[in-house]
Amino acid sequence: MKHDHNNSCTNVDIYKYSSDKSTKEVLSFKEKLQNGTYIIKSFPCPICNNANQWCPLLFAAEGFRWSICRQCGLFQVDHRLTQSNLNEFYESGEYTEICTAGLAGETRFMRNKKSASTFIGVLMNLGYDFSQLKILDIGCGAGGILLAMKELGATVQGYDLDPQKIQYGRNFLQEIEVGDALAFDKDISQYNFILLTNVLEHLFSPMEFLVKLNKRILNYSTQVFIDVPNLEGMHDYSHNAANNHLLEFVHIGHLWYFTSVSLERLLNQAGFQVNYIHNRGVAMTVLCSKSKNVINNNSNSFILSLSSIDYANYKFNTKQNKDSSIAVNC
Ligand SMILES: [Zn+2]
Repeated sequence: MKHDHNNSCTNVDIYKYSSDKSTKEVLSFKEKLQNGTYIIKSFPCPICNNANQWCPLLFAAEGFRWSICRQCGLFQVDHRLTQSNLNEFYESGEYTEICTAGLAGETRFMRNKKSASTFIGVLMNLGYDFSQLKILDIGCGAGGILLAMKELGATVQGYDLDPQKIQYGRNFLQEIEVGDALAFDKDISQYNFILLTNVLEHLFSPMEFLVKLNKRILNYSTQVFIDVPNLEGMHDYSHNAANNHLLEFVHIGHLWYFTSVSLERLLNQAGFQVNYIHNRGVAMTVLCSKSKNVINNNSNSFILSLSSIDYANYKFNTKQNKDSSIAVNC
């Protein structure tokens, strides 16, 4: 095992997912970093507010840094774009080009709709009948997941901040709107499930968002259905089989890399109780609801985060018969 933080193998190529590195979005992103329009700063941990107890693991030449918080164990991009920069990163289309290889709308919609089968399976296994369900999707994209659930009889409603995605999705279903679901004066407690799939890991302030969501839910029966990338299953990730799993797993659009332990602590602190965790490899589904009592959760996921990364190193090195470990000598 290599134990050198300056080792070149800990450098992340933040453009690794871009299929074309000369698009106007990629070039404009580079320009903004160079001319100071985009600023990278260090931020405290959203779960425990730690600002100086870090175990840094990965760096990018542009200044981004990925570290594990020593106090709660959340692996995160602790050196990152400011909130307004991050908003611009999404609204300008730079995120789509840099982090998702600019997948065409139709391809993404079909993938999205296909991924619904996993979520539908989770709820069906728990005995839910879709014809009886009212479902709200926050960050619904073009609504592919909602369409699949609607086809099973569910009553659905979705919101997304991206007008292009909503416009595209309207070709398939009408129950989607541009906007912030929480800003609308609606009774969100009427829904059986509130979907937050591939949302939490992108939010600048996940705690602030979850606290706000919790306040808007007025009962204990509405469940929040969360799906996020799963650091514990990262050893299964193989976007590019020739590279180390961790280097492939991270990108600058994903700010938080949860384990079941760190996600539960975040949810408990925001006023939720976890009802169900489905650890399904590189992603994890969690169902939670508003908690009647305050849950004090001081669990530290540090060892779990470290060992998940170490195991991915081990598995990769065994498979490739070579050593390209990420330094984890924290
Ligand atoms: Zn922390």
